[in-house]
Amino acid sequence: MGSLSFPDHRRGESRSKVCEYINGDKIEAILEEASNPSEEEVNHIIKKSLELKGLSVEEAAVLLQVEDQELINKFLEAARKVKEKIYGKRLVLFAPLYFSNLCTNSCLYCSFRHNNNKVKRKKLSIEEIKEEVRALEREGHKRLLVLTGETPETDLDYVVEGIKAAYETRTEHGGEIRRINVEIAPLTTEDFKKLKEAKIGTYTCFQETYHRPTYKKMHPSGPKADYDWRLSVMDRAQQAGIDDIGIGALFGLYDYKFEVIALLLHSEYLDKTYGVGPHTISVPRLNPALGAPVQEPPYPVSDEDFRKLVAILRLAVPYTGIILSTRESIDMRNELFLHGVSQISAGSRTTPGGYREAREREHDLEQFSLHDIRPMDEIIAEISKQGYIPSFCTACYRLGRTGQDFMDLAKPGKIQEFCKPNAMFTFKEYLVDYASPETRKLGEECLQAHLKEIKDLNPMLAQKVKTNLTKIENGEHDLYF
Ligand code: SAM
Ligand code: SF4
Repeated sequence: MGSLSFPDHRRGESRSKVCEYINGDKIEAILEEASNPSEEEVNHIIKKSLELKGLSVEEAAVLLQVEDQELINKFLEAARKVKEKIYGKRLVLFAPLYFSNLCTNSCLYCSFRHNNNKVKRKKLSIEEIKEEVRALEREGHKRLLVLTGETPETDLDYVVEGIKAAYETRTEHGGEIRRINVEIAPLTTEDFKKLKEAKIGTYTCFQETYHRPTYKKMHPSGPKADYDWRLSVMDRAQQAGIDDIGIGALFGLYDYKFEVIALLLHSEYLDKTYGVGPHTISVPRLNPALGAPVQEPPYPVSDEDFRKLVAILRLAVPYTGIILSTRESIDMRNELFLHGVSQISAGSRTTPGGYREAREREHDLEQFSLHDIRPMDEIIAEISKQGYIPSFCTACYRLGRTGQDFMDLAKPGKIQEFCKPNAMFTFKEYLVDYASPETRKLGEECLQAHLKEIKDLNPMLAQKVKTNLTKIENGEHDLYF
């Protein structure tokens, strides 16, 4: 497939205004204008961020230009406060599920690229998808992210059939998947309508890099070579009624400051156009991938810069979830929970079929190498030791609280009232059904500490929470406010 080919199904779709809204010259100008900020200006922006109303793109650019470590520490601390106020001590967990690694694209950084013969190709059958799902359910997962490469063999009908099968699959002990998010190649508006009917949670698609020349270099052929088609994907999703969307950039392909401003412009554009910004922003950093021509990031993002950019996103769009994957090391993940990250993948395999196989990983099927390969039980133990509630909550999605409805709920008081108890219920379920004795002990201590916190603020609510926790202890499932 040639890079300039313009497939028929794309002809009828209008190229949206987003391609004008996010342009390189504008981003460079914003960053230029923000360079060499004064201490006073930075302090003023940090103070404003603590009001939990977010920051303008220009204000975020000022923070991006700060090099002084003391000032950076100040906004890392502000991000910690904002994170804690809005999300409390909850961390949402999910598992990626690769249906297939077949792909017609040739992204230079990915091992699934079409002419990479170092990778064994695999497309899961519907029966194999069910087996994978059972393996995940047996670990206690409730939330999945479905991914595929882009090829006619894994078209939308296949993906939809797989999603349906995954929702229907139960284990012998009643394990079930309650929310399936989807990360597949951009669709037409008509196809998005079909995807919506499959009752998906969030639709996610990363622009990879918003810098056009770099995008062109990194995506030399296949349908993904069309930058505008990818950038306008969220407009088509919104027009099809999918208002729960996730954006992201692959950090390391181009200057991180440019990408952060572009992500914020994208977010602002969606908010202005559809009345609601993205539900999540993902921040993957480029990792080496087997057989990929690009092994080292052309613009490496140091740990310091990565911390800084996560904190700036947290302050700029406080109600947008930030997702981190197992691409990051354990230490980095632990640290970023503090400064802004609200969702992580856990116990991940990026190999189609990787969950059923023993814990041995098959490197020659994998998309990229992972740093955190601990089993779920260990991750949960670690998280609860740090005082966080690992959450598998899907209440908002199941009660239809998406888009603006979700944003209305995502206010600090409401979070204490709904999200924290709901997270505790799903965690309790996990502890009763799946945890090892050691993790169970740590988890119960964590839950008791949080129950006490609720009691100090609102004894009536604490009583209701306690009642539900006891019901779960006695075998009830799926309780939420
Ligand atoms: N094929 C679809 C696409 O490209 O959007 C969906 C799934 S693709 C498997 C998911 C994401 O993996 C890509 O958007 C890319 O950002 C990320 N990815 C690919 N290669 C990577 C690497 N070497 N390191 C880190 N992330 C990578
Ligand atoms: Fe295919 Fe996605 Fe990998 Fe690109 S990133 S090669 S589109 S799977």
